[in-house]
Amino acid sequence: MKKGIHPKYNKIKAVCTTCGNEFETGSVLTEVRVDTCSNCHPFYTGKQKHAAADGRVERFNKRYGIKSQTNE
Ligand SMILES: [Zn+2]
Repeated sequence: MKKGIHPKYNKIKAVCTTCGNEFETGSVLTEVRVDTCSNCHPFYTGKQKHAAADGRVERFNKRYGIKSQTNE
């Protein structure tokens, strides 16, 4: 890299506002706050998203009185 044409690139601490996880990252900023990180994002954990989906289905069935067994 040429000197003088790039902004100062710092090794900083990023903080996740959801799970409080802290990790090192590089940025021209001095502090970074993120909503989700690799520790708590459903894409990486998998379980969170699945559990939430199950909960929605249960609430829907309860609201409309749908039982898990079919009455035929
Ligand atoms: Zn997180």
